Amino acid sequence: MEFELTAEQREIQALTREFAEAEIEPHAAAWDREHRFPRELFTRLGGLGLMGVCVPEEYGGAGADFLSYVLALEELSRADAGVGVTVAVHTSACTLPILAWGTDEQRARFVPPLARGEQLGAFALTEPEAGSDAGSLRTAAAAEGGGWRIDGRKQWITNGSHAGTFLLFARTDPTRDDSRGVSAFVLDAEHVRVTREEEKLGLNSSSTVDLVVEDAFVERDRLLGEENRGFRIAMSTLDGGRIGIAAQALGIAQAAYDAARAYALERRAFGSRIADFQAIQWKLADMATEIDAARLLTYRAAWLKQAGRPHTEEGAKAKLYASEMARRQTAEAIQILGGYGYTKEFPVERYYRDAKITEIYEGTSEIQRLVIARSVLGLRQQERMLAQG
Ligand SMILES: Cc1cc2nc3c(=O)[nH]c(=O)nc-3n(C[C@H](O)[C@H](O)[C@H](O)COP(=O)(O)OP(=O)(O)OC[C@H]3O[C@@H](n4cnc5c(N)ncnc54)[C@H](O)[C@@H]3O)c2cc1C
Repeated sequence: MEFELTAEQREIQALTREFAEAEIEPHAAAWDREHRFPRELFTRLGGLGLMGVCVPEEYGGAGADFLSYVLALEELSRADAGVGVTVAVHTSACTLPILAWGTDEQRARFVPPLARGEQLGAFALTEPEAGSDAGSLRTAAAAEGGGWRIDGRKQWITNGSHAGTFLLFARTDPTRDDSRGVSAFVLDAEHVRVTREEEKLGLNSSSTVDLVVEDAFVERDRLLGEENRGFRIAMSTLDGGRIGIAAQALGIAQAAYDAARAYALERRAFGSRIADFQAIQWKLADMATEIDAARLLTYRAAWLKQAGRPHTEEGAKAKLYASEMARRQTAEAIQILGGYGYTKEFPVERYYRDAKITEIYEGTSEIQRLVIARSVLGLRQQERMLAQG
């Protein structure tokens, strides 16, 4: 086994860390407080190649591998988890599926502006009455004159207010009410109307919106992959996307650990540093161990995806473990900081609020356990297709 990162992976990790420490982390508390989406930041990240890390150079990306992208997400999320999810959804849930499933014409047309960060991407699957059970979605794409007329509502769409390109899922077979009548479409901002900006527990520097598609006509060139086979695209997108969310959770937990460790070495009580108390030492030891375990699961899943090998089970394990670990360990970081941890004077309360979402989106922890159980029990692929995240 090879545990060393390559020179290129280390370079991308260092570049992202340096930029994030200088240009993101110092603003993260204010963006959180003001609920500010730092739009201009993503243009700068695009200039550094970080909006298309693992997109081939011919399509405007940095041409690095998937693990490099995961390393970049981890570093961005360590500075600001809202920035992390913006880049994660943009890349894994919009740009990469167009690259994987698009025709040559679709790739050449839609991918370069996304990979260069000139446009943001969004992934619109969830609806008010279709979350985990996304196969029951109702947004309708009715066949008309060689194209489709799309009508429906989507809910909690990350980047929705700022995206130029939407990967949107709609029902093309009205005779079915399950995942088999769903198709994937590439829409522009003009095709959608944002109806509401969501208020959230955390991730306040990211944008999450409800939107409607009203009577939007699209030609055949907007269909991604085959008609009525779009749910496969959604599932394979989430298989990869979950590795990105695991990296996000990992970055948040690492930030919480760094803050807790530094504080424990400074804060004094009963004549000693609190780091000298075994109770605090054990908390830090558990944090360091669990972060390591999550990192290994996440990097392994990224490596499998990069190698073109099956990674559904491994990606679900990485997301399940990393997200639950981040929720647990950000709470422990608050405990180590005591009363200060509960205040906005330190960032750990933000890490705690931000960590929670990683157990919910791109498939809840319950859905991850379902995916893992079906894989280890050898239940049929088709059944897996019916459960979603
Ligand atoms: C901040 C944020 C950003 C998001 N971004 C996007 C985005 O960009 N694009 C997008 O399409 N969606 C997005 N989502 C939606 C997200 O993916 C869904 O919230 C998630 O899939 C869960 O769906 P739900 O909230 O409807 O919960 P539900 O499906 O209603 O689930 C409720 C509860 O029931 C449990 N449950 C459901 N089914 C089962 C089962 N079979 N077995 C056991 N337990 C089950 C769930 O685990 C959960 O605990 C976002 C959500 C949030 C909050």
